[in-house]
Amino acid sequence: MNPLFVKAVVIAIMVLSYGFSLLVGLLNITHRRPGIDASLADFVDAEKYQRLLSYNNEKSRLALWEGLVSFAVLLVFLLLDGPGRLDSALASLVAAPRLRAILFFGILALASGLVSMPFSLYHDFSLEARYGFNTKTIGIYISDTIKGMILGALFGGGILYLLLLCIDVFGAQFWFIFALILFVITLAVSSLYTTLILPLFNKLTPLEDGELKSAIQALAEKTSFPLSGIYVMNASKRSKKSNAFFSGLGRFKKIVLFDTLIEKHPVDEIVAVLAHEVGHYKKRHIPYSSLLSALSIFVTMAVFSLLVHSRALSLAFGAADTQVHINLLAFFLLYEPLSLLMNIGTNIISRRFEYQADAYAGQAASAESMSRALKRLFADNLSDLYPHPLHVFVNYSHPPLLARLGALKSIN
Ligand SMILES: [Zn+2]
Repeated sequence: MNPLFVKAVVIAIMVLSYGFSLLVGLLNITHRRPGIDASLADFVDAEKYQRLLSYNNEKSRLALWEGLVSFAVLLVFLLLDGPGRLDSALASLVAAPRLRAILFFGILALASGLVSMPFSLYHDFSLEARYGFNTKTIGIYISDTIKGMILGALFGGGILYLLLLCIDVFGAQFWFIFALILFVITLAVSSLYTTLILPLFNKLTPLEDGELKSAIQALAEKTSFPLSGIYVMNASKRSKKSNAFFSGLGRFKKIVLFDTLIEKHPVDEIVAVLAHEVGHYKKRHIPYSSLLSALSIFVTMAVFSLLVHSRALSLAFGAADTQVHINLLAFFLLYEPLSLLMNIGTNIISRRFEYQADAYAGQAASAESMSRALKRLFADNLSDLYPHPLHVFVNYSHPPLLARLGALKSIN
């Protein structure tokens, strides 16, 4: 195949896929928001609603600009045969092919981090600061960035090394074996997340004895939930936004509560939020989600195995001959539309799970407390109340607030 033709196809696919996400973003920004819903009157007054609207507007605009700049930079890089040029420059410095591939992706990751850095600085220190969310200092920003880079290099570099090793050792069957390894790694990382990774960024302290702890223990007992610890995370060191989550696979679950959540919500609301999380566990959402991620890993690797040795693809990206890592980069770009479809599918399922967990919380705790908790969370976090339906369909893993409140109402 003619490399120029292949390059044109790759770029056309990228443009189409970016065009679609741009369309969804623009539709959402221009979507006309009605007045504040009466059910939220206790949490959002007229002045707060104006703040909420302008906050979401600014946030969406920032995301659109970042998307546009990243896309433009990537397009220029491809049009100028950047991948091939970078690789031949590396080839003259590093002889070992796997190390060269790791450096190749390392440099691309650094470059993409540099492109998005002005946006993330503006996001944290202007946008979030002006709306009273940001509590991060520049020192925390720098140390987070450095730790993130080290973790990214260790995990990204390690996984890339394993992939290249599998390709060399297992030949045509590499994709199956590597997909298996990758799935095990994702399981291990998600089960060790609270123990190994979270403490690098935050401090976890066991929840003190008191009304909240007894209420949570009573909930765990009532729902026979295998609780192994309740921790408070100092999230307020970065942002005033609040949340809570569960961690740990299998029988031993840890609850992590943001200190900001405890500060703002009465005990019955926190218990309702946790009952929602227990609902995810009871309805077996966690194994289903693992199964879905396994499926997506295997499909992705099977598709990659079709392109891994394509000479035309390497030539189209400016290489002199077949290069597995250049094909991997090309694959990521070509794969965008398929991964968009898979994300839409995952989000449809995830939104259904959220309704089921809400319904569980309505029964195990109280629908009234759950509704109040959601209203307070959305109001405090200035979350969008009326996102465009297509934006919800494509990007939302959780249903919008009013839909959740409507579903909770039907429980009573
Ligand atoms: Zn949930």
